[in-house]
Amino acid sequence: MSAQPRLVIAIDGPSGTGKSTIARWIAQELNLSYLDTGANYRAATLWCMKNGLDLAQPDSVDTQQITDLITTMPLAQDLNPHNFSLALDGQDITEAIRSDEVTANVSVLSTRREVREHLVELQRQAIQSRPRIVVEGRDITTVVAPDAEARILLTASPEVRMARRGQQLRETQQDPGNVESDVVGRDAKDSALVDFMTPAEGVAEIDSSNLSLEDTVTVVLAEIQRQVNTSGS
Ligand code: C5P
Repeated sequence: MSAQPRLVIAIDGPSGTGKSTIARWIAQELNLSYLDTGANYRAATLWCMKNGLDLAQPDSVDTQQITDLITTMPLAQDLNPHNFSLALDGQDITEAIRSDEVTANVSVLSTRREVREHLVELQRQAIQSRPRIVVEGRDITTVVAPDAEARILLTASPEVRMARRGQQLRETQQDPGNVESDVVGRDAKDSALVDFMTPAEGVAEIDSSNLSLEDTVTVVLAEIQRQVNTSGS
């Protein structure tokens, strides 16, 4: 029996677009693995916090301290989209990485070039080990997997993104009062090194502002099909 061909689907976009839900849904639909790279940045942030780095005072933290910790980070992740989960040192952190504290600190890591290089390498290794995969983040279409078989930038207006994120925070019993800093503030910080607001050449932009979750999945699936067919012809 011959192995199935490589199929990497890269989905980027700012926060609050429904990107994670959509990427995971598509992975389930197409029977592919699923990698949430935002979860990698969050896990690394939590690991630094657990190891005593005061990320609330970013100026007191040396980039080298962060990269040293990431190099030895005992991260394990289950890339099954039906059971996507992460563990640090054998301890499940799937929920802990969504805390307000991690969310507030994650940009301290993601805005340092050397830290990104380490995490990008980790993500490329994950893709190499599971080459039929949906990968979502901010720089997948441009840096992590610019050679992906399908590349999509998922966007939505700031108003819609804030409303969706507020709903998500309420559903997970978190403080919806943080929604503006969580969406607009975090995107502004995250944009320092990565442009995830404009599609790079060959990347299809899908604006989900006026689409339901189901309709967005349908549109994204059709676009994936189109790109895969075009590249195969
Ligand atoms: O997608 P999520 O909100 O979980 O991502 C958490 C953070 O990880 C982002 O705010 C950003 O700082 C960082 N990130 C990144 N590059 C990626 C994915 C996430 O810088 N590819």
